[in-house]
Amino acid sequence: MNKKILGVFVCMILITTAVLPVAGKLNKSKSKDFVENIKIILDEYPLPPPLSVDMVLEESICRRMSVRSFTGESVSDEELSTILWAAYGITENGNRSIFNPDGTYSTIVYVIRSEATYKYVPENHSLSLFKSGNYLHLGQYTSPIKFGLVWDMNAESDELIGMADIGMICQNIYFDVNALDLGTVTTGMYVEDLYELGIPSNEKPEIIMPLGHPSSPYDFTYDPLPESNLPQVVDNALSLAEAINNRLIVNNWDDIPLSLPEESQLMWSSYGYSYLYDNVNNKRHRTLPSGIGIYPFKVFAANHSGVYQYSPSTHSITEIVQGDQREEINNCIDPNDIIITSASWIIIPFLDANLGGSQYQRFWYYENGAIINNVLLETAALNLRANVIYDITDEAGLRSAIGISSQPNLIPLSVIPVGNPFTTPNTPPEIPDIDGPTSGSAGTAYTYTFNSVDSNGDDVYYNITWGDGYVEIWDGPHTSGTDFDIDHTYANQGTYTIEAKAKDTNGAESDWGILEVTMPRNKVAFNSWFLCFLEQFPLLERLFNLLKIY
Ligand code: CA
Repeated sequence: MNKKILGVFVCMILITTAVLPVAGKLNKSKSKDFVENIKIILDEYPLPPPLSVDMVLEESICRRMSVRSFTGESVSDEELSTILWAAYGITENGNRSIFNPDGTYSTIVYVIRSEATYKYVPENHSLSLFKSGNYLHLGQYTSPIKFGLVWDMNAESDELIGMADIGMICQNIYFDVNALDLGTVTTGMYVEDLYELGIPSNEKPEIIMPLGHPSSPYDFTYDPLPESNLPQVVDNALSLAEAINNRLIVNNWDDIPLSLPEESQLMWSSYGYSYLYDNVNNKRHRTLPSGIGIYPFKVFAANHSGVYQYSPSTHSITEIVQGDQREEINNCIDPNDIIITSASWIIIPFLDANLGGSQYQRFWYYENGAIINNVLLETAALNLRANVIYDITDEAGLRSAIGISSQPNLIPLSVIPVGNPFTTPNTPPEIPDIDGPTSGSAGTAYTYTFNSVDSNGDDVYYNITWGDGYVEIWDGPHTSGTDFDIDHTYANQGTYTIEAKAKDTNGAESDWGILEVTMPRNKVAFNSWFLCFLEQFPLLERLFNLLKIY
Protein backbone atom coordinates (compact mmCIF):
# COMPACT_ATOMS: atom_id res chain seq x y z
CA MET A 1 0.00 0.00 0.00
CA ASN A 2 2.89 2.32 0.61
CA LYS A 3 6.17 2.00 -1.23
CA LYS A 4 8.15 3.89 1.37
CA ILE A 5 6.77 1.84 4.19
CA LEU A 6 7.18 -1.38 2.23
CA GLY A 7 10.81 -0.45 1.67
CA VAL A 8 11.21 -0.03 5.38
CA PHE A 9 9.59 -3.39 5.92
CA VAL A 10 12.07 -5.04 3.60
CA CYS A 11 14.85 -3.51 5.70
CA MET A 12 13.12 -4.64 8.85
CA ILE A 13 12.88 -8.18 7.50
CA LEU A 14 16.61 -8.13 6.74
CA ILE A 15 17.41 -6.71 10.15
CA THR A 16 15.24 -9.22 11.92
CA THR A 17 16.51 -12.24 10.00
CA ALA A 18 18.99 -12.77 12.82
CA VAL A 19 16.18 -12.92 15.33
CA LEU A 20 13.70 -14.64 13.03
CA PRO A 21 13.21 -17.65 15.32
CA VAL A 22 12.34 -15.19 18.06
CA ALA A 23 9.94 -13.24 15.86
CA GLY A 24 8.36 -16.45 14.65
CA LYS A 25 7.95 -17.64 18.17
CA LEU A 26 6.37 -14.31 19.07
CA ASN A 27 3.55 -14.81 16.62
CA LYS A 28 3.07 -18.47 17.40
CA SER A 29 3.19 -17.96 21.14
CA LYS A 30 0.16 -15.64 21.00
CA SER A 31 -2.73 -17.72 22.20
CA LYS A 32 -6.42 -16.87 22.11
CA ASP A 33 -6.06 -15.81 25.71
CA PHE A 34 -4.46 -12.36 25.60
CA VAL A 35 -3.43 -12.47 29.24
CA GLU A 36 -0.74 -15.02 28.49
CA ASN A 37 2.59 -13.24 28.44
CA ILE A 38 4.74 -13.34 25.36
CA LYS A 39 7.98 -14.64 26.77
CA ILE A 40 10.57 -12.99 24.57
CA ILE A 41 10.56 -9.23 24.36
CA LEU A 42 12.32 -7.40 21.54
CA ASP A 43 13.84 -3.95 21.93
CA GLU A 44 12.65 -3.17 18.40
CA TYR A 45 9.43 -4.93 17.50
CA PRO A 46 8.91 -4.70 13.71
CA LEU A 47 5.33 -4.41 12.57
CA PRO A 48 4.10 -6.29 9.48
CA PRO A 49 2.78 -4.23 6.52
CA PRO A 50 -0.63 -2.68 7.19
CA LEU A 51 -3.61 -4.60 5.88
CA SER A 52 -5.51 -3.21 2.92
CA VAL A 53 -8.84 -2.26 4.48
CA ASP A 54 -11.39 -2.49 1.70
CA MET A 55 -14.00 -0.07 3.07
CA VAL A 56 -14.76 3.39 1.70
CA LEU A 57 -14.06 6.33 3.98
CA GLU A 58 -17.70 7.33 4.39
CA GLU A 59 -18.72 3.87 5.60
CA SER A 60 -15.78 3.87 8.03
CA ILE A 61 -16.99 7.23 9.37
CA CYS A 62 -20.54 5.89 9.66
CA ARG A 63 -19.39 2.80 11.58
CA ARG A 64 -17.45 4.92 14.07
CA MET A 65 -18.71 4.12 17.56
CA SER A 66 -17.35 3.47 21.02
CA VAL A 67 -16.97 -0.03 22.47
CA ARG A 68 -16.27 -0.60 26.15
CA SER A 69 -16.52 -4.37 26.55
CA PHE A 70 -14.16 -6.82 24.88
CA THR A 71 -13.75 -10.57 24.47
CA GLY A 72 -10.47 -12.25 25.39
CA GLU A 73 -9.49 -12.73 21.74
CA SER A 74 -6.15 -11.16 20.84
CA VAL A 75 -5.52 -8.51 18.20
CA SER A 76 -3.18 -9.59 15.41
CA ASP A 77 0.05 -7.76 14.62
CA GLU A 78 -1.36 -7.05 11.15
CA GLU A 79 -4.40 -5.36 12.67
CA LEU A 80 -2.24 -3.41 15.12
CA SER A 81 0.06 -2.34 12.28
CA THR A 82 -2.91 -1.13 10.20
CA ILE A 83 -4.36 0.90 13.06
CA LEU A 84 -1.06 2.48 14.10
CA TRP A 85 -0.18 3.53 10.54
CA ALA A 86 -3.56 5.26 10.12
CA ALA A 87 -3.19 6.81 13.57
CA TYR A 88 0.21 8.38 13.25
CA GLY A 89 2.22 6.75 10.46
CA ILE A 90 4.13 8.24 7.55
CA THR A 91 2.19 8.62 4.29
CA GLU A 92 3.32 7.80 0.74
CA ASN A 93 4.50 11.39 0.25
CA GLY A 94 6.31 11.56 3.57
CA ASN A 95 3.64 13.40 5.56
CA ARG A 96 2.00 12.31 8.77
CA SER A 97 -1.33 10.52 8.63
CA ILE A 98 -2.78 13.49 10.52
CA PHE A 99 -2.16 17.19 9.87
CA ASN A 100 -0.62 19.77 12.19
CA PRO A 101 -0.31 23.22 10.53
CA ASP A 102 2.96 23.96 12.37
CA GLY A 103 4.33 20.45 11.95
CA THR A 104 4.96 20.05 15.68
CA TYR A 105 3.37 16.57 16.03
CA SER A 106 3.72 16.37 19.80
CA THR A 107 1.96 13.06 20.45
CA ILE A 108 3.67 9.91 21.67
CA VAL A 109 1.67 6.71 21.23
CA TYR A 110 2.38 4.06 23.88
CA VAL A 111 1.23 0.57 22.98
CA ILE A 112 0.51 -1.41 26.13
CA ARG A 113 0.53 -5.17 25.64
CA SER A 114 0.52 -8.02 28.08
CA GLU A 115 4.26 -8.66 27.81
CA ALA A 116 5.50 -5.06 27.65
CA THR A 117 4.75 -1.46 26.78
CA TYR A 118 6.19 -0.04 23.55
CA LYS A 119 6.38 3.34 21.87
CA TYR A 120 5.17 3.52 18.29
CA VAL A 121 7.98 4.71 15.99
CA PRO A 122 6.33 6.20 12.86
CA GLU A 123 9.64 6.69 11.02
CA ASN A 124 10.21 2.95 10.59
CA HIS A 125 6.72 1.78 11.52
CA SER A 126 7.85 -0.33 14.44
CA LEU A 127 7.43 -0.61 18.17
CA SER A 128 10.27 0.34 20.46
CA LEU A 129 10.37 -1.35 23.86
CA PHE A 130 9.64 1.12 26.67
CA LYS A 131 9.00 -1.08 29.69
CA SER A 132 8.68 -4.81 30.27
CA GLY A 133 5.78 -6.24 32.18
CA ASN A 134 2.01 -6.19 32.01
CA TYR A 135 0.48 -2.74 32.48
CA LEU A 136 -2.89 -3.50 30.93
CA HIS A 137 -4.54 -2.62 34.25
CA LEU A 138 -3.85 1.10 33.54
CA GLY A 139 -6.90 3.18 32.63
CA GLN A 140 -10.45 1.94 32.20
CA TYR A 141 -11.82 -1.35 30.77
CA THR A 142 -10.21 -4.73 30.17
CA SER A 143 -8.74 -5.36 26.74
CA PRO A 144 -5.76 -7.15 25.12
CA ILE A 145 -4.11 -3.89 24.01
CA LYS A 146 -4.29 -0.29 25.21
CA PHE A 147 -3.04 2.86 23.53
CA GLY A 148 -1.70 5.57 25.83
CA LEU A 149 -1.70 8.94 24.04
CA VAL A 150 0.66 11.43 25.61
CA TRP A 151 1.43 15.09 24.89
CA ASP A 152 5.16 15.84 24.60
CA MET A 153 5.51 19.44 25.78
CA ASN A 154 9.04 19.65 24.39
CA ALA A 155 7.64 19.21 20.86
CA GLU A 156 4.69 21.62 21.23
CA SER A 157 4.32 24.12 24.07
CA ASP A 158 0.56 24.56 23.57
CA GLU A 159 -1.26 21.59 25.10
CA LEU A 160 -4.45 22.51 23.23
CA ILE A 161 -2.72 22.15 19.87
CA GLY A 162 -1.38 18.81 21.10
CA MET A 163 -4.93 17.81 22.00
CA ALA A 164 -6.16 18.70 18.51
CA ASP A 165 -3.51 16.32 17.12
CA ILE A 166 -4.70 13.63 19.52
CA GLY A 167 -8.29 14.22 18.37
CA MET A 168 -7.17 13.49 14.81
CA ILE A 169 -5.17 10.40 15.83
CA CYS A 170 -8.12 8.98 17.76
CA GLN A 171 -10.44 9.47 14.77
CA ASN A 172 -8.19 7.43 12.51
CA ILE A 173 -7.87 4.77 15.22
CA TYR A 174 -11.66 4.59 15.51
CA PHE A 175 -12.15 4.36 11.74
CA ASP A 176 -9.76 1.45 11.20
CA VAL A 177 -10.71 -0.31 14.44
CA ASN A 178 -14.42 -0.25 13.58
CA ALA A 179 -13.74 -1.21 9.95
CA LEU A 180 -11.71 -4.23 11.15
CA ASP A 181 -14.62 -5.33 13.40
CA LEU A 182 -12.53 -4.47 16.43
CA GLY A 183 -13.61 -2.01 19.12
CA THR A 184 -12.19 0.95 21.03
CA VAL A 185 -13.18 4.04 23.00
CA THR A 186 -11.37 7.25 23.91
CA THR A 187 -11.15 7.68 27.67
CA GLY A 188 -9.96 10.77 29.46
CA MET A 189 -10.42 9.43 32.99
CA TYR A 190 -7.65 7.71 34.97
CA VAL A 191 -5.12 8.66 32.32
CA GLU A 192 -2.72 9.67 35.10
CA ASP A 193 -2.30 5.90 35.51
CA LEU A 194 0.20 6.18 32.66
CA TYR A 195 2.69 7.81 35.07
CA GLU A 196 3.06 4.32 36.53
CA LEU A 197 4.98 3.45 33.36
CA GLY A 198 7.64 5.97 34.37
CA ILE A 199 7.12 8.34 31.45
CA PRO A 200 9.47 11.37 31.36
CA SER A 201 8.49 14.63 33.06
CA ASN A 202 8.02 16.46 29.73
CA GLU A 203 5.18 14.10 28.85
CA LYS A 204 1.58 14.41 30.02
CA PRO A 205 -0.99 11.61 29.64
CA GLU A 206 -4.12 12.71 27.80
CA ILE A 207 -6.10 9.75 26.46
CA ILE A 208 -6.18 5.97 26.88
CA MET A 209 -7.88 3.78 24.26
CA PRO A 210 -8.50 0.07 24.94
CA LEU A 211 -8.42 -2.12 21.84
CA GLY A 212 -9.99 -5.55 21.39
CA HIS A 213 -12.80 -7.56 19.87
CA PRO A 214 -16.21 -6.20 20.90
CA SER A 215 -18.28 -8.43 23.20
CA SER A 216 -21.35 -7.68 21.05
CA PRO A 217 -20.82 -7.94 17.29
CA TYR A 218 -21.70 -4.89 15.20
CA ASP A 219 -25.19 -4.81 13.73
CA PHE A 220 -25.95 -1.83 11.47
CA THR A 221 -28.84 -1.06 9.14
CA TYR A 222 -28.54 1.44 6.30
CA ASP A 223 -30.98 4.19 7.22
CA PRO A 224 -30.24 7.53 5.56
CA LEU A 225 -31.36 10.77 7.16
CA PRO A 226 -34.57 12.32 5.75
CA GLU A 227 -34.45 14.57 2.71
CA SER A 228 -33.42 18.15 3.42
CA ASN A 229 -31.96 21.09 1.54
CA LEU A 230 -28.70 19.10 1.42
CA PRO A 231 -28.37 15.93 -0.66
CA GLN A 232 -28.02 12.65 1.18
CA VAL A 233 -24.58 11.45 2.14
CA VAL A 234 -23.09 9.10 -0.43
CA ASP A 235 -20.02 6.88 -0.61
CA ASN A 236 -17.05 8.03 -2.64
CA ALA A 237 -14.35 5.70 -3.90
CA LEU A 238 -11.44 6.20 -1.49
CA SER A 239 -10.68 4.07 1.55
CA LEU A 240 -9.37 5.66 4.75
CA ALA A 241 -5.76 4.82 3.82
CA GLU A 242 -6.24 6.24 0.32
CA ALA A 243 -7.78 9.42 1.70
CA ILE A 244 -4.85 9.77 4.12
CA ASN A 245 -2.37 9.32 1.28
CA ASN A 246 -4.28 11.62 -1.10
CA ARG A 247 -4.83 14.43 1.39
CA LEU A 248 -3.07 17.55 0.09
CA ILE A 249 -2.76 20.81 1.98
CA VAL A 250 -2.77 23.90 -0.25
CA ASN A 251 -2.62 27.68 0.24
CA ASN A 252 -4.62 28.77 -2.79
CA TRP A 253 -7.75 27.63 -4.59
CA ASP A 254 -9.61 28.16 -7.85
CA ASP A 255 -12.48 30.32 -6.71
CA ILE A 256 -15.27 28.31 -8.28
CA PRO A 257 -18.26 27.33 -6.13
CA LEU A 258 -18.46 23.80 -4.77
CA SER A 259 -21.43 21.71 -5.78
CA LEU A 260 -24.22 21.21 -3.24
CA PRO A 261 -23.36 17.49 -2.90
CA GLU A 262 -19.77 18.48 -2.07
CA GLU A 263 -20.92 21.01 0.53
CA SER A 264 -23.28 18.37 1.93
CA GLN A 265 -20.55 15.73 2.32
CA LEU A 266 -18.19 18.20 4.01
CA MET A 267 -20.73 19.45 6.55
CA TRP A 268 -21.81 15.91 7.32
CA SER A 269 -18.23 14.76 7.89
CA SER A 270 -17.59 17.71 10.20
CA TYR A 271 -20.33 17.02 12.72
CA GLY A 272 -23.16 14.96 11.24
CA TYR A 273 -24.90 11.72 11.99
CA SER A 274 -24.21 8.27 10.55
CA TYR A 275 -26.33 6.91 7.72
CA LEU A 276 -26.15 3.58 9.60
CA TYR A 277 -28.48 2.72 12.46
CA ASP A 278 -26.82 0.79 15.31
CA ASN A 279 -29.26 -2.01 16.22
CA VAL A 280 -27.22 -3.05 19.27
CA ASN A 281 -27.39 0.33 21.02
CA ASN A 282 -30.53 1.52 19.22
CA LYS A 283 -29.04 4.77 18.07
CA ARG A 284 -27.42 6.62 15.26
CA HIS A 285 -23.80 7.57 15.99
CA ARG A 286 -22.08 10.84 15.20
CA THR A 287 -19.09 11.19 12.88
CA LEU A 288 -16.93 11.85 15.96
CA PRO A 289 -17.09 11.36 19.73
CA SER A 290 -17.64 14.23 22.14
CA GLY A 291 -16.11 14.84 25.55
CA ILE A 292 -18.75 13.95 28.18
CA GLY A 293 -21.07 13.19 25.25
CA ILE A 294 -22.62 16.63 24.80
CA TYR A 295 -21.54 17.83 21.33
CA PRO A 296 -21.19 21.55 22.12
CA PHE A 297 -19.98 22.72 18.69
CA LYS A 298 -21.91 24.72 16.12
CA VAL A 299 -20.49 24.48 12.62
CA PHE A 300 -20.76 27.33 10.12
CA ALA A 301 -19.55 27.65 6.53
CA ALA A 302 -19.04 30.63 4.23
CA ASN A 303 -18.92 30.77 0.45
CA HIS A 304 -19.14 33.43 -2.28
CA SER A 305 -22.84 33.97 -1.63
CA GLY A 306 -23.26 33.85 2.12
CA VAL A 307 -22.76 32.19 5.50
CA TYR A 308 -24.63 29.06 6.56
CA GLN A 309 -25.16 27.17 9.81
CA TYR A 310 -25.21 23.37 9.76
CA SER A 311 -27.91 21.45 11.58
CA PRO A 312 -26.61 17.90 12.23
CA SER A 313 -29.94 16.37 13.29
CA THR A 314 -31.67 17.33 10.03
CA HIS A 315 -28.49 17.36 7.91
CA SER A 316 -29.43 20.77 6.52
CA ILE A 317 -28.03 24.27 6.32
CA THR A 318 -29.63 27.61 7.13
CA GLU A 319 -28.48 30.89 5.60
CA ILE A 320 -27.28 33.29 8.32
CA VAL A 321 -25.74 36.09 6.22
CA GLN A 322 -26.27 36.99 2.57
CA GLY A 323 -23.24 38.02 0.55
CA ASP A 324 -19.57 37.18 0.37
CA GLN A 325 -18.00 37.45 3.85
CA ARG A 326 -14.71 35.76 3.02
CA GLU A 327 -12.69 38.98 3.05
CA GLU A 328 -14.15 39.85 6.48
CA ILE A 329 -13.27 36.37 7.74
CA ASN A 330 -9.75 36.78 6.39
CA ASN A 331 -9.39 40.04 8.35
CA CYS A 332 -10.04 38.23 11.64
CA ILE A 333 -7.38 35.54 11.32
CA ASP A 334 -3.67 35.31 10.68
CA PRO A 335 -3.70 33.35 7.43
CA ASN A 336 0.07 33.52 6.83
CA ASP A 337 0.36 32.81 3.11
CA ILE A 338 -2.98 31.05 2.86
CA ILE A 339 -5.26 32.91 0.44
CA ILE A 340 -8.49 31.97 2.12
CA THR A 341 -10.56 34.44 0.09
CA SER A 342 -10.01 32.06 -2.84
CA ALA A 343 -11.44 29.10 -0.88
CA SER A 344 -14.90 28.12 -2.07
CA TRP A 345 -16.18 26.79 1.25
CA ILE A 346 -14.74 27.97 4.58
CA ILE A 347 -15.79 25.79 7.50
CA ILE A 348 -15.61 27.32 11.00
CA PRO A 349 -16.45 25.18 14.04
CA PHE A 350 -17.49 27.28 17.07
CA LEU A 351 -17.48 25.93 20.62
CA ASP A 352 -20.62 26.94 22.51
CA ALA A 353 -19.11 27.89 25.88
CA ASN A 354 -22.59 27.73 27.47
CA LEU A 355 -22.60 24.00 26.76
CA GLY A 356 -18.93 23.03 26.86
CA GLY A 357 -17.41 24.29 30.08
CA SER A 358 -13.82 25.50 30.25
CA GLN A 359 -12.89 22.72 32.70
CA TYR A 360 -13.10 20.38 29.72
CA GLN A 361 -11.22 22.70 27.38
CA ARG A 362 -8.69 20.04 26.40
CA PHE A 363 -11.52 17.79 25.21
CA TRP A 364 -13.07 20.56 23.13
CA TYR A 365 -9.75 20.95 21.37
CA TYR A 366 -9.69 17.18 20.91
CA GLU A 367 -13.16 17.45 19.36
CA ASN A 368 -12.03 20.36 17.17
CA GLY A 369 -9.14 18.17 15.95
CA ALA A 370 -11.58 15.35 15.19
CA ILE A 371 -13.76 17.75 13.16
CA ILE A 372 -10.71 18.97 11.20
CA ASN A 373 -9.51 15.43 10.57
CA ASN A 374 -12.90 14.37 9.20
CA VAL A 375 -13.12 17.41 6.92
CA LEU A 376 -9.57 16.88 5.60
CA LEU A 377 -10.26 13.22 4.86
CA GLU A 378 -13.61 13.92 3.19
CA THR A 379 -11.95 16.73 1.23
CA ALA A 380 -9.46 14.17 -0.13
CA ALA A 381 -12.28 11.72 -0.92
CA LEU A 382 -13.97 14.51 -2.95
CA ASN A 383 -10.69 15.32 -4.72
CA LEU A 384 -10.74 18.78 -3.15
CA ARG A 385 -7.99 20.52 -1.17
CA ALA A 386 -7.98 22.18 2.24
CA ASN A 387 -5.89 23.83 4.92
CA VAL A 388 -6.27 24.66 8.61
CA ILE A 389 -5.75 27.91 10.52
CA TYR A 390 -5.69 27.97 14.33
CA ASP A 391 -4.52 31.57 14.65
CA ILE A 392 -7.73 33.59 15.12
CA THR A 393 -6.78 37.19 15.91
CA ASP A 394 -10.25 38.75 16.32
CA GLU A 395 -12.90 36.40 17.71
CA ALA A 396 -15.57 39.12 18.00
CA GLY A 397 -14.82 40.27 14.46
CA LEU A 398 -15.17 36.71 13.22
CA ARG A 399 -18.54 36.35 14.95
CA SER A 400 -19.59 39.64 13.34
CA ALA A 401 -18.39 38.49 9.91
CA ILE A 402 -20.58 35.41 10.03
CA GLY A 403 -23.60 37.12 11.59
CA ILE A 404 -23.52 35.81 15.15
CA SER A 405 -22.43 38.95 17.02
CA SER A 406 -25.23 38.40 19.53
CA GLN A 407 -23.73 35.07 20.62
CA PRO A 408 -20.42 35.84 22.36
CA ASN A 409 -20.68 32.36 23.91
CA LEU A 410 -19.62 30.94 20.54
CA ILE A 411 -15.83 30.61 20.45
CA PRO A 412 -14.12 29.87 17.13
CA LEU A 413 -11.30 27.30 17.46
CA SER A 414 -10.21 26.90 13.85
CA VAL A 415 -10.88 27.95 10.27
CA ILE A 416 -10.85 25.26 7.56
CA PRO A 417 -10.75 26.61 3.98
CA VAL A 418 -11.73 24.08 1.30
CA GLY A 419 -11.95 24.28 -2.49
CA ASN A 420 -10.79 23.06 -5.83
CA PRO A 421 -7.02 23.01 -6.29
CA PHE A 422 -5.61 26.15 -7.86
CA THR A 423 -4.38 25.42 -11.36
CA THR A 424 -1.66 27.70 -12.69
CA PRO A 425 -2.83 29.49 -15.89
CA ASN A 426 -0.91 28.49 -18.99
CA THR A 427 1.76 30.93 -20.16
CA PRO A 428 3.42 30.73 -23.57
CA PRO A 429 7.07 29.68 -23.79
CA GLU A 430 9.70 32.43 -23.70
CA ILE A 431 11.22 33.78 -26.93
CA PRO A 432 13.80 31.16 -27.98
CA ASP A 433 17.50 31.93 -27.51
CA ILE A 434 19.33 31.26 -30.79
CA ASP A 435 23.02 30.50 -30.52
CA GLY A 436 25.58 29.66 -33.22
CA PRO A 437 28.16 31.19 -35.59
CA THR A 438 27.07 34.59 -36.92
CA SER A 439 29.57 34.45 -39.75
CA GLY A 440 31.06 31.64 -41.74
CA SER A 441 31.39 30.20 -45.19
CA ALA A 442 28.54 29.36 -47.47
CA GLY A 443 28.54 25.66 -48.21
CA THR A 444 29.72 24.71 -44.74
CA ALA A 445 27.33 23.17 -42.17
CA TYR A 446 27.09 24.98 -38.83
CA THR A 447 25.29 23.96 -35.66
CA TYR A 448 22.66 26.32 -34.28
CA THR A 449 21.15 25.88 -30.81
CA PHE A 450 17.60 26.84 -29.84
CA ASN A 451 16.38 27.05 -26.25
CA SER A 452 13.04 28.23 -24.93
CA VAL A 453 11.81 28.01 -21.33
CA ASP A 454 8.14 27.32 -20.61
CA SER A 455 7.31 28.55 -17.11
CA ASN A 456 4.70 25.79 -16.73
CA GLY A 457 7.35 23.24 -17.65
CA ASP A 458 5.46 22.25 -20.80
CA ASP A 459 7.38 20.64 -23.66
CA VAL A 460 8.08 23.04 -26.54
CA TYR A 461 8.09 22.85 -30.35
CA TYR A 462 10.26 25.12 -32.54
CA ASN A 463 9.30 26.84 -35.77
CA ILE A 464 12.52 28.00 -37.50
CA THR A 465 12.97 29.97 -40.72
CA TRP A 466 16.58 30.07 -41.84
CA GLY A 467 16.17 33.08 -44.14
CA ASP A 468 17.25 31.18 -47.25
CA GLY A 469 13.87 29.68 -47.98
CA TYR A 470 14.37 26.65 -45.78
CA VAL A 471 12.15 26.14 -42.68
CA GLU A 472 11.69 23.70 -39.78
CA ILE A 473 8.00 23.51 -38.99
CA TRP A 474 7.23 22.82 -35.33
CA ASP A 475 10.11 20.48 -34.60
CA GLY A 476 9.54 18.74 -31.28
CA PRO A 477 8.52 18.07 -28.62
CA HIS A 478 11.61 19.24 -26.74
CA THR A 479 11.96 19.52 -22.99
CA SER A 480 11.49 23.09 -21.78
CA GLY A 481 14.79 24.89 -21.16
CA THR A 482 17.02 22.31 -22.85
CA ASP A 483 19.21 22.94 -25.89
CA PHE A 484 17.93 21.77 -29.26
CA ASP A 485 20.83 21.56 -31.78
CA ILE A 486 20.28 21.52 -35.50
CA ASP A 487 22.77 21.87 -38.42
CA HIS A 488 22.21 24.18 -41.35
CA THR A 489 24.20 24.96 -44.49
CA TYR A 490 23.77 28.15 -46.49
CA ALA A 491 24.42 27.28 -50.12
CA ASN A 492 24.97 30.86 -51.20
CA GLN A 493 26.81 33.83 -49.82
CA GLY A 494 24.79 36.56 -48.21
CA THR A 495 23.32 37.86 -44.97
CA TYR A 496 20.46 35.90 -43.53
CA THR A 497 18.07 36.33 -40.60
CA ILE A 498 17.33 33.17 -38.61
CA GLU A 499 13.95 33.47 -36.92
CA ALA A 500 12.53 31.03 -34.37
CA LYS A 501 9.47 30.88 -32.19
CA ALA A 502 8.36 28.30 -29.65
CA LYS A 503 4.97 26.73 -28.98
CA ASP A 504 3.97 24.77 -25.85
CA THR A 505 1.89 21.61 -25.69
CA ASN A 506 -1.20 23.78 -25.10
CA GLY A 507 -0.62 25.64 -28.38
CA ALA A 508 0.53 28.93 -26.80
CA GLU A 509 3.23 30.56 -28.96
CA SER A 510 6.12 32.86 -28.11
CA ASP A 511 7.24 35.86 -30.15
CA TRP A 512 10.01 35.45 -32.69
CA GLY A 513 13.66 35.26 -31.71
CA ILE A 514 16.21 36.53 -34.25
CA LEU A 515 19.86 35.88 -35.15
CA GLU A 516 21.59 37.55 -38.13
CA VAL A 517 24.28 35.52 -39.92
CA THR A 518 26.63 36.52 -42.71
CA MET A 519 28.06 34.02 -45.15
CA PRO A 520 30.70 35.72 -47.39
CA ARG A 521 31.48 34.49 -50.95
CA ASN A 522 33.59 31.41 -50.73
CA LYS A 523 35.47 29.10 -53.06
CA VAL A 524 32.73 26.55 -53.45
CA ALA A 525 30.15 29.18 -54.24
CA PHE A 526 32.52 30.90 -56.65
CA ASN A 527 33.33 27.58 -58.35
CA SER A 528 29.66 26.83 -58.83
CA TRP A 529 29.18 30.19 -60.43
CA PHE A 530 32.32 29.83 -62.55
CA LEU A 531 31.35 26.35 -63.82
CA CYS A 532 28.02 27.71 -64.97
CA PHE A 533 29.83 30.55 -66.68
CA LEU A 534 32.22 28.18 -68.49
CA GLU A 535 29.36 26.05 -69.76
CA GLN A 536 28.36 29.03 -71.87
CA PHE A 537 31.77 29.06 -73.53
CA PRO A 538 32.83 25.46 -74.53
CA LEU A 539 36.23 26.51 -75.91
CA LEU A 540 37.19 28.30 -72.73
CA GLU A 541 35.98 25.29 -70.72
CA ARG A 542 38.17 22.95 -72.67
CA LEU A 543 41.14 25.30 -72.16
CA PHE A 544 40.55 25.45 -68.41
CA ASN A 545 40.15 21.66 -68.25
CA LEU A 546 43.50 21.26 -69.94
CA LEU A 547 45.18 23.72 -67.63
CA LYS A 548 43.22 22.41 -64.56
CA ILE A 549 43.42 25.83 -63.12
CA TYR A 550 40.32 25.46 -61.05
CA1 CA B 1 3.02 26.78 -21.01
